[in-house]
This record gives sequence, C-alpha cells and structure tokens, in this order.
Amino acid sequence: VIKVSGLYKYYKVGTQYVHALDGLDFDIKKGEFCAIVGPSGSGKSTLLNMLAGLEKPSKGEIVIAGKHIEKLNENQLVAFRRENVGFIFQSYNLLQTMSAVENVAMPLMFRGVPVKKRLAVANKYLELVGLKKQANQKGNAMSGGQQQRVGIARALAMNPKIIFADEPTGNLDTKTTGEVLELMKDVVSKAGKTLIMVTHDNHIADFADRRIRIVDGKISD
Ligand code: ATP
Ligand code: MG
Repeated sequence: VIKVSGLYKYYKVGTQYVHALDGLDFDIKKGEFCAIVGPSGSGKSTLLNMLAGLEKPSKGEIVIAGKHIEKLNENQLVAFRRENVGFIFQSYNLLQTMSAVENVAMPLMFRGVPVKKRLAVANKYLELVGLKKQANQKGNAMSGGQQQRVGIARALAMNPKIIFADEPTGNLDTKTTGEVLELMKDVVSKAGKTLIMVTHDNHIADFADRRIRIVDGKISD
C-alpha cells in the first residue's frame, strides 16, 4: 500500500544542508504493523511527515494507494489526507473540555456526517477500545491511557487506509504502554488497517510485525 523510492529530504540551516533523509527505499504492505525505529535525530518524524503528505520530499517518490503523493498540490494533499490517513499523537490532542464521544465525533463533523450518525459511529469505536462507560467523560477527567484509547478510536472512526502514530505511548507508564499497544495492534488488525508507528524504543517496536531501522537518514541493517 506504500512504496518509497529514492527518498531524500534536505533542510537548509544557515548555509549548511542537513540530510534528514538520505536515500530511502522500502515497501509497506496492506495490513502491516510496521515500526520505524532509530535514535533521536535519525529522521523518523521527517519520514512520517513525508508519508502523511505533511511535507514535500526534496527528491524521490512516494506512492500510497496508487497515488504519487509527491506530485500532489496543497489542495490535493488535504483531500488525500482526509480520505486515506489517520493520526495518533503522542500528546493525544484531545479537546480537554469535550467528552470522549465528542472528541471522536469531531473529525466526522468536518467530513459533513450528520450529528446522529457521527455520535453512533463514535460510540461504536469507543466501545471497541473498551471505553463505553467513559463516553461522556471529559478529556481532562481521563487517565493518559484512556485518553490515548480515545485517540485510537478517533483515528479509526475516520476509516482511513493507513494510521500513523509518532511515539503514541511516549507519555504513558510501562504497564499502560503495553496495554495501549496491544489494543492498538488488535483493533487496527481487526479493522484491516495499515499501521505505521515511530518509536525510539526497541521494546515498543517489538509489538510491531516488522521494523524499519533508520540511522542518520538511511535504512540500517
Ligand atoms: P526524535 O527521536 O528526537 O523525535 P527523529 O528521528 O524524529 O528524532 P527528525 O525530527 O526526523 O528526527 O529529524 C531528523 C534530522 O532533521 C535532525 O537532524 C533534525 O535536526 C533535522 N530537522 C528536522 N526538521 C527540521 C527542520 N524543519 N529544519 C531543519 N532541520 C530539521
Ligand atoms: Mg521525532
């Protein structure tokens, strides 16, 4: 579902160029749970931003679901993201004064789904992540693990082909991290989604089916 060839990203810093990504080639299959691992500054977030169409490559090709996303203009990229891509954030990004169900339903509102329908969809996904009882609880009244489960439900509710997660458990303790990763793996595979997770932690990457290791902007080993 993703094919990357000859991918480079340079940033100009003063008079120097930083080679954030230095010639990447790889494929990710539909339904795969792939971890992108590597030390700090190796280019993981840069790669994720590129795959999600949030930043343009300096050189190279990214084909996602048959589309060359490096060739899309800004409006086409917005449409591409809306149709294909979901995000799970390290900081959850919930609206703290809104309830769990309102948080999950919110992106569906921007898609024009009527209120009754979007609340029904949101409740369905909250049940899937084990938060049926907490549906009306406000963001700030939930634990970190619960908030991230709301984040997972919100990503799934949009029915994207691919879900990107950048350090999704970075703010959670070890026990909750394990629970959230197991849940994420389970619900994403049942929904037939492709999951791409960035982490600097090898233990967290163990939850994935496969890992791509990046060091200094290149794939290593
Ligand atoms: P971390 O694990 O710390 O999040 P990372 O693997 O996600 O690190 P990136 O954020 O992708 O690393 O950064 C890769 C390299 O590109 C780093 O050297 C970084 O300083 C540089 N870089 C990233 N974004 C920019 C930018 N907007 N402008 C200039 N340099 C950047
Ligand atoms: Mg990063």
